[in-house]
Amino acid sequence: MSVTTARALRSLLEKSDRESLREIFGARVRFGEPLAPYTSWKIGGPADAFATVHDETELARLVRFATRRRMPWWIIGAGSNVLVGDGGVRGIVIRLAGEFALVRVRVEHGRVIVEAGGSADLALVTAKAASAGAAGIGSLAGIPGTIGGSLRMNAGTDREIGEFVRDVWVQSASRPEPHRASIRYLYRRSTLERDVVVSRVVLEFAASSARDVRSEMQTRLVRRKRTQPIALPNAGSCFRNPSGEAAARLIEAAGAKGWREGDAEVSTLHANFINNLGGATAKDVATLLARMRRAVRDRWGVELQLEVHLVGVFIDAT
Ligand SMILES: Cc1cc2nc3c(=O)[nH]c(=O)nc-3n(C[C@H](O)[C@H](O)[C@H](O)COP(=O)(O)OP(=O)(O)OC[C@H]3O[C@@H](n4cnc5c(N)ncnc54)[C@H](O)[C@@H]3O)c2cc1C
Repeated sequence: MSVTTARALRSLLEKSDRESLREIFGARVRFGEPLAPYTSWKIGGPADAFATVHDETELARLVRFATRRRMPWWIIGAGSNVLVGDGGVRGIVIRLAGEFALVRVRVEHGRVIVEAGGSADLALVTAKAASAGAAGIGSLAGIPGTIGGSLRMNAGTDREIGEFVRDVWVQSASRPEPHRASIRYLYRRSTLERDVVVSRVVLEFAASSARDVRSEMQTRLVRRKRTQPIALPNAGSCFRNPSGEAAARLIEAAGAKGWREGDAEVSTLHANFINNLGGATAKDVATLLARMRRAVRDRWGVELQLEVHLVGVFIDAT
């Protein structure tokens, strides 16, 4: 292993950092924790520290600690839109749980109001909101993820989550206590800074018939099952759609369906998905992404932009 590689893989934590983190989180912090199980691709090397945070006070404490120690940190949601490098992530990876997973739904003056924590499961949010008759929630049905990750990505289909956001509370290195934020939602991204965590959200929908909303949602879920390889480990669409075009169509027409690198394969069902057939590495996926991008550029002159976020150290860690 080269000196550069060894340096990129070396933990940034000192013994005293481990002790401090252990003091705050007890068994809820793990050191050298592999990230693959926390991602939908089932790919990714170890985090120096992996801390599961249960409430806003704990999150503020952790962010302050990291700032004081000049320690990089990164927040992971359900890991359904990230490719974590085989060399893992240096510093602290934060996962929200506990109070952050709560979801409350009420109907008020003909509107459906959803209050959800940053790690609330989008499937739970959509199910509860649909039962209350939230018009438009069907657009978010079947999208894996947490509320926080979905806000950052402005997840959606024909309609996007940002359209329904009434209020957002965030916590950050510069302001660790929860505070309201104003965010703009763009196509598959938002103006949230990288070091800002979404801790709470209020969504608002027009109220409609719960039966109609649930039935529309069911139709969309069935369509999704037919058109996407949802049973295999992947991260959904890898590339954003270029203006007025479907990335999947360009990739398919460039002949990439079924291409393989190691155990990573371009889906034969949906060309913008890459499946992990079992033992795929981040390097396999990254190589395939580069091939797909090159093929589309050569064939169509279009430069595809990644939708999935690349995180951590991308080197050959074997
Ligand atoms: C089978 C499949 C189908 C999919 N279909 C769709 C689809 O139809 N439409 C669509 O838009 N997407 C789709 N996706 C992509 C993915 O589901 C969404 O992007 C989802 O919203 C990501 O949420 P997450 O919690 O998994 O985020 P992660 O993948 O964990 O993180 C994504 C980004 O958000 C950040 N983040 C996570 N939590 C927080 C937080 N609390 N505060 C601030 N930042 C945070 C992370 O740091 C990272 O940068 C699909 C994925 C899969 C696997």
